[in-house]
Amino acid sequence: MIEEKFDAIVVGAGMAGNAATLTLAQRGLKVLQLERGEYSGSKNVQGAILYADMLEKLVPDFREDAPLERHLVEQRFWMMDDNSHVGLHYRSEEFNEEKPNRYTIIRAQFDKWFSSKVKEAGATVLCETTVTELIQDAYGRVIGVRTDRAGGQIHADVVVLAEGVNGLLGTRAELRPRPKPENVALAVKEMHFLPRETIEARFNLKGDEGVVIEAAGTISRGMTGMGFIYANKECVSLGIGCLVSDFQKTGETPYGLLERFKSHPSVAPLIEGSEVKEYAAHLIPEGGFKAIPQLYGEGWVVVGDAAQLNNAIHREGSNLAMTSGRIAAEAIFQIKSRREPMTAKNLALYKAMLDESFVMKDMKKYKDMPALMHINSQNFFLTYPQLVSKAMQNFVRVDGTPKVEKEKRSLRAFVEARSWLGLFGDAFRIARAWR
Ligand SMILES: Cc1cc2nc3c(=O)[nH]c(=O)nc-3n(C[C@H](O)[C@H](O)[C@H](O)COP(=O)(O)OP(=O)(O)OC[C@H]3O[C@@H](n4cnc5c(N)ncnc54)[C@H](O)[C@@H]3O)c2cc1C
Repeated sequence: MIEEKFDAIVVGAGMAGNAATLTLAQRGLKVLQLERGEYSGSKNVQGAILYADMLEKLVPDFREDAPLERHLVEQRFWMMDDNSHVGLHYRSEEFNEEKPNRYTIIRAQFDKWFSSKVKEAGATVLCETTVTELIQDAYGRVIGVRTDRAGGQIHADVVVLAEGVNGLLGTRAELRPRPKPENVALAVKEMHFLPRETIEARFNLKGDEGVVIEAAGTISRGMTGMGFIYANKECVSLGIGCLVSDFQKTGETPYGLLERFKSHPSVAPLIEGSEVKEYAAHLIPEGGFKAIPQLYGEGWVVVGDAAQLNNAIHREGSNLAMTSGRIAAEAIFQIKSRREPMTAKNLALYKAMLDESFVMKDMKKYKDMPALMHINSQNFFLTYPQLVSKAMQNFVRVDGTPKVEKEKRSLRAFVEARSWLGLFGDAFRIARAWR
């Protein structure tokens, strides 16, 4: 095993770990990255939408060789009940730009490519190596890691914890609490393979254009959660996730939800005749701003999902992971350049820089959303989708009923289900949490 001391050790080779390691290596620091998987990406699960802006800051010319699937020209939001969906679709020719803003990717391929850039930059990358423990000195300062390899004790000035949402190192060392069941979603996902032309015809696409569908409603059976359908070149990623605490409470199973989602009349035709080649399950941190743990300490920082940096409202996680990884590395580089130690006082720079970025500003903006959604999940994920669907059907069905009568009927249905007070209360609470 490696005897020498490193400037930094990064635990994990996901989006956050790769961003941190790449930035540290690009700045000339001696950095070791440890990943328990066979290769970077082998353990990682994502929908997956890649946000170009954040990657461009790390690898400006990534479009030349990164394994990208489709660039997104359309986003659909579906509010579903058991037989229908009400959709808000945004499609723009402007997304067919020279440097597209968002792509679909397949994480296992993408992470492998990302890792090749990390190695090219000069970092030492060791896969199939699990970090089992953080080494702390008598004062509690983190001074290195222990791994599952023989003699696997390695020292560094600072350890970057990029171990993902269910990483245990930080919690074992009592640097951060274990995420609560109401702060994490369990998502399951399948990859449905279809001929390229079939995907393009079904999703109204040409060339490498792509579309993503985000779906909420009765598919989650009153639990806080969402489904997604993303078009790749030759497969469709489809999945659904709900809060772990809701699964515990209801006894529903993720697999049961996925089966229902797939057989929904709006979804089934999109994947008809497909061959399922992959099935994966993974946690997503969804506790929001209030669930963010302490982000730095004596000799350590935590980034990405391990730091609960995930914007569930906008379905963004990988970009927050990449940005927090890059910012942590930049802070470490600045401290190193000043020849100062990696104390908590100095590493507070990471938090200060993160606070100034979109990451913390977005997390803060939606700070009340997770609790609101959780407490009112029956209304937001069951009652309203059913009411909206009925109102829409009433609106479009032509049956000789005067329009005034139709409007009264729809309004009556809302008031009977929620009461005036309930309706105004819900609108007020959403507006307040959204602002
Ligand atoms: C179903 C699903 C769909 C998603 N869709 C999207 C999407 O479309 N767009 C988006 O932006 N985000 C999406 N996300 C969120 C996104 O995947 C995460 O935010 C992102 O992967 C976080 O990156 P990370 O590097 O923090 O963690 P991870 O990608 O989880 O990486 C952590 C790494 O650490 C390694 N590791 C853990 N413990 C140890 C250890 N002790 N020793 C060594 N290695 C260790 C793991 O093997 C892993 O490689 C989705 C998530 C899920 C589950």
